[in-house]
Amino acid sequence: MKSYYLDHNATTPVAEEVFQAMRPCLVEHFGNPSSLHRFGAGPARILREARRQVASFLGAASEKEIVFTSCGSESNNTAIRSALRTTGRKRFITSSVEHSSVKKLAAQLEKEGYDVVLIGVDADGRLDRDELIQAATDETALVSLMAANNETGVLFPIEEVGDLLHKRGILFHVDAVQAAGKMPLVLKDLPVDFASFSAHKIYGPKGVGALYVKDGVEYHSLVIGGAQERGRRAGTENIAGISGFARACELVAENSEAERERLEGLRNFFEEEVVRNCEGSFINGLKAPRLANTSNIFFPDVEGEAFLMALDQEGIAASGGSACMSGAGEPSHVLKAMGLPDHQAKASLRFSMGRFTTEKDVRDAVRITLSVWQRLARQTKSRHGKAVI
Ligand code: PLP
Repeated sequence: MKSYYLDHNATTPVAEEVFQAMRPCLVEHFGNPSSLHRFGAGPARILREARRQVASFLGAASEKEIVFTSCGSESNNTAIRSALRTTGRKRFITSSVEHSSVKKLAAQLEKEGYDVVLIGVDADGRLDRDELIQAATDETALVSLMAANNETGVLFPIEEVGDLLHKRGILFHVDAVQAAGKMPLVLKDLPVDFASFSAHKIYGPKGVGALYVKDGVEYHSLVIGGAQERGRRAGTENIAGISGFARACELVAENSEAERERLEGLRNFFEEEVVRNCEGSFINGLKAPRLANTSNIFFPDVEGEAFLMALDQEGIAASGGSACMSGAGEPSHVLKAMGLPDHQAKASLRFSMGRFTTEKDVRDAVRITLSVWQRLARQTKSRHGKAVI
């Protein structure tokens, strides 16, 4: 049976070129980049080159602004903890639709005595700017917002928000894990102090990420120990992962605009066909600016997890929201923040396309998704005598 991987926001397959770039780092160049002998020289050179490539891909002003980490979650935690420590102010502002690595940290910070404010979103997932303007007082240390939502693809107005915050002397962290490679990002032109990235969302390996810290912004490492990363993150560097990350960045940069247009065409076709043929369905975040590859769709008369499993049996890999939260059995906090009742949030699925998704795949996915939905919805109706969800 053919498989259709439509869960690229959870993770992406490692590109062959990325794997080729990583291999020598695990074999010939096994040395420690901090070693002064010859075995350290190769890995140290690979690390330097990788930092240059990642900085160039992200449009950083200097490679010194890039700190390699173990993942996007670590980058988020590091940036937020660092900013709170430097300013001494007590207010931390974020949104109600952030990734769990920010959401759970916010809950922890509240327990530690910080004044945490969660900014809401409208029915299409757009940030409530007025609420943010009101909340961003002189006592605010940091605002942390995602550039693109992992569940709906909805974009937040990073540039506009950053300008506003900087006028008020407030630090700004952006979780750009889902945005990188899917939309233009030139960090040196953005009013952003910290930004988080993760290699496995852009066809790189898992277990490696980056934190951008704008030159001149005070910074404290979360991981204390050796002097790696110029003292900004202790721990022997994951040279293979970092090298793969850098190669992944190069590949994404090669045709990002053409790829964005291609994915948008596929995504629009998928959504139009599903909504036209599935009465009562709708797209979450439809009216907001969104990532080109992401569809979050509510399906009536089915239970979300049963639908996902049935799709999987027919070869379609989609998701009930964020991979980090799946299995929790809870309705998505993102969709709930957008005002969906629990039963609609639970019956909404995310389909996220990627580099290897073809037009034929999408046509097949439409056909399979609709036929599985019809079967399950018929079963629901015959059990209850009418539509229940
Ligand atoms: N932020 C967002 C928006 C994400 O989607 C993810 C991963 O799903 C992360 C952060 C965490 O990245 P990582 O899996 O590298 O920790």
